[in-house]
Amino acid sequence: MTSRTPATTDGVAVTLGALREATDSLGAFIGQCYAAYPMPTVVVLGILAVLVLSRIATWVSTPRGRGIKDPTRMFTAAQRAEGFTRAGNRCEMEIMPFIRCRRPAHHGDHHIPWSKGGATSLDNFVAGCVTCNTSKGAKMPSAWSTMRLQGRRRRYFPDGLDVHAGRVFVQT
Ligand SMILES: [Zn+2]
Repeated sequence: MTSRTPATTDGVAVTLGALREATDSLGAFIGQCYAAYPMPTVVVLGILAVLVLSRIATWVSTPRGRGIKDPTRMFTAAQRAEGFTRAGNRCEMEIMPFIRCRRPAHHGDHHIPWSKGGATSLDNFVAGCVTCNTSKGAKMPSAWSTMRLQGRRRRYFPDGLDVHAGRVFVQT
């Protein structure tokens, strides 16, 4: 692209010329990438990159309980009653991303699993039905699923109630 060099010393023309050169080089580089790697490879690498980044986001955003478990494992009757009431007595989990389960809540679930240092407190309480609670098991929730839960809670939690989900046990 040597012919693109502006004949004038006008600053704007020089800048535009340089910008055009840079755009051309970038276009050529992207073209080379597509030529070197077939489209499916680019797509698979893109998906892998998103998965790795989401795992990193979960790891970074998850508070660590230093391996100390809450000595109280079971929620009290009062915690369960309050947790179910604020959820409208309905399971708070998802049957698929963005679709809240419609079954009635019968279980109090630790959002951050008790076995992984989650506290037995209301801010770690999620109302669940038998099916969802059993299928979740002791899996650590992803940062993305926690964000979705908190987003849903804004719609059904009583006004002014903290929608935050997840608390690790801290020994005092
Ligand atoms: Zn459910």
